[in-house]
Amino acid sequence: MKTKFIFVTGGVLSSLGKGLAAASLGALLKTRGLSVTIQKLDPYINVDPGTMNPFQHGEVFVTDDGAETDLDLGHYERYLNVPMSHKNNTTSGAIYNRVIAKERRGDYLGATVQVIPHITDEIKRAVLSLSEGDDPPDVAIIEIGGTVGDIEGLPFLEAIRQLKSELGRDSCLNIHLTLVPYLSSAGELKTKPTQHSVKELLSIGIQPDIILCRCEKNIPQDLRKKIALFCNVDEDAVFTSVDVKNIYEVPLRFYEEGFDQKVAIMLRLPARNANLEAWKHLVDVCMHPKGRVTIAIVGKYVDLKEAYKSLHEALVHGGVANGVTVDLRYVNSENVTDANTAEIFAGCDGILVPGGFGYRGVEGKICAIRYAREKKVPFLGICLGMQCAVIEFARHVAGLEDANSEEFDPHSKSNVIYLMTEWFDFRTQNVEHRDRASDKGGTMRLGAYPCKILPGTQAERAYGQEMVEERHRHRYEFNNAFKDVLGSKGMIFSGTSPDNSLVEIVELADHPWFLGCQFHPEFKSRPMAAHPLFREFIRAAQLRK
Ligand code: GLN
Repeated sequence: MKTKFIFVTGGVLSSLGKGLAAASLGALLKTRGLSVTIQKLDPYINVDPGTMNPFQHGEVFVTDDGAETDLDLGHYERYLNVPMSHKNNTTSGAIYNRVIAKERRGDYLGATVQVIPHITDEIKRAVLSLSEGDDPPDVAIIEIGGTVGDIEGLPFLEAIRQLKSELGRDSCLNIHLTLVPYLSSAGELKTKPTQHSVKELLSIGIQPDIILCRCEKNIPQDLRKKIALFCNVDEDAVFTSVDVKNIYEVPLRFYEEGFDQKVAIMLRLPARNANLEAWKHLVDVCMHPKGRVTIAIVGKYVDLKEAYKSLHEALVHGGVANGVTVDLRYVNSENVTDANTAEIFAGCDGILVPGGFGYRGVEGKICAIRYAREKKVPFLGICLGMQCAVIEFARHVAGLEDANSEEFDPHSKSNVIYLMTEWFDFRTQNVEHRDRASDKGGTMRLGAYPCKILPGTQAERAYGQEMVEERHRHRYEFNNAFKDVLGSKGMIFSGTSPDNSLVEIVELADHPWFLGCQFHPEFKSRPMAAHPLFREFIRAAQLRK
């Protein structure tokens, strides 16, 4: 079967849940036995979101192949359970970068390089690359970031307009997500914003095939009829994306609406039924938990939940695996001191210190970790969280008072975490060099790396495997010069690179569950298959109750 393309645009305002809608549609099509991939096209100028502040843009999601991508790719992986790669996220910046490189090489043979056709051609190439290779997917869903009417989004919309006429109407479908607000003063649902948004799309030559209306409540038939009439779509092509309590309900609600059925008919996809048993079970477990645990997340971006999206979901998955609801308590690490830990963490069944960059809040994280270690509270430290756990142990157990990370104190004699300037990269099979003074963009260890698990450890009990692969995003590493001294005081190095040169997991023996990992397990957690470390962390938290 030739790959069919579904383009998802958004209107009226952002944050309507376009990513979740695209992922949920993908999940439904997948349960119909189709192979599905999803791509996010982001109109901003950054080449990738790697350098963007999490306060503005939310989490940076890392793929196996080391691409730093939009957090929507996390939804795609969680809903589709297929690994994403650098191909699945492109930005205006990346497109312009490629076009300018070609222009400098003289590839355009003296032509004037313009938005149309050169930029739009490059966008089309990025979209069509999804259908290349030996095993192209049956369906590729393309989500266009931003809102219709944004200046930056225009080349992307023009590119998908052209694609539809080039690939044919049977091969492409346009879905437009809009808002149907409920005006409580009038007691009415309003369709005007939807009409205006579709008008805007039409003015650039795109006629939506399906309108998906985000709405607080179900939209009655007569109103759907009105939207269909004004927006020039089939009467049965207006769907509601109603607000739900649990995000994993979205595929079920879409199915009840007949959304995937309509998409299948319009794209002439094989007429198979969706099998939603696994999704129903998942939502059922979420709705009827056997108990609850409270986990404190001690970090810097506590006011912006989007910054910890995958982490939040991985904790939910860990809860599902144990049949419990995980209540999260976000703690700003800048407010934590040794004097107030007992008060702050009262009632917490587990403490988690997530990844992060920069010194701000680090001392508070170390206080939180000290409390978890001494009071035997289950602890999971991720990336910076693991590094802080090593610093805490070095300072308070091994007596290295000036223990630190080179990131925070370049001059300390006890930098238990440091910058490795030369190392063998298993992924590329090259010796990589890192320059202490280089720019911030491209110097991180990124993407999936193998990790060897030490038998008889918490890590082994969790994974049940000798070799695993996990995703990284950091510059600094555990400093092996301190392995013996920390090891002699009871720190266990339960995960290392296959050649033992990099420490990937540390844990403590005389503690119910205390584990720090240099990688980000949250990126690989799935709603129906919680990541083993999150599953075991939540299990330990539940046992403590
Ligand atoms: N700042 C630390 C480093 O660069 C940790 C990074 C992270 O937590 N992702 O190594």
